[in-house]
Amino acid sequence: MAQNARLDHHDPLVFDTHELGRRPGALQRLTRTVEAPRDLGIQSVIGVPQGAPVELELRLESVMEGVLVTGTARAQAEGECVRCLEPVGLELEADFQELFSYPDADDRGRVIAEPGDDAEDDEDRFYLEDGLFDLEPLLRDAVVLALPMQPVCQDDCPGLCSECGARLADDPDHHHDAVDIRWAALQGLAGSLEDGEKDEMSGGAPQSARADEKQEK
Ligand SMILES: [Zn+2]
Ligand SMILES: [Zn+2]
Repeated sequence: MAQNARLDHHDPLVFDTHELGRRPGALQRLTRTVEAPRDLGIQSVIGVPQGAPVELELRLESVMEGVLVTGTARAQAEGECVRCLEPVGLELEADFQELFSYPDADDRGRVIAEPGDDAEDDEDRFYLEDGLFDLEPLLRDAVVLALPMQPVCQDDCPGLCSECGARLADDPDHHHDAVDIRWAALQGLAGSLEDGEKDEMSGGAPQSARADEKQEK
């Protein structure tokens, strides 16, 4: 569907290359600040909130086959620390480069990406449509690559207390005396169980089990 949908030049992530022209070597630099589209980032880990400003710096270069687009996106990403769940914010800087090909060769009466012949090759290729290109897929890939898969609030974040969930970075001396007492009680219990087992062993239960095995053979 998206492939056949005409690009809308009002879409802030759609760029026009008409001004650049088709003379190879021609260059155009442009900047644009857009609102972040939905789900820009790594889902439920870290990303640029929808509507947050994304600063785009683009360099368009006319080459034989099309327009080479090189650029950088800058935005503020937000997520949470994978260890302590505190909010994490970071300055995102994502670089991208892609060639948008002229569809001319396919324009002579044929529909681009017609099933069959070159459909597989075409999947990874980007085309100019009426001199327009859509930056969104490029931007999405670049942002995901530039973001950490496991964001942390600080490199040595100690995470949360496994007992009470307290954030250990806030309280380095955090500990639970009550746990020690319970541990002591458990250890005492374990000790008495061990004694009981030893009594049973000496009572010969395992030996009688072995004897049963032998009888079956
Ligand atoms: Zn943390
Ligand atoms: Zn705790």
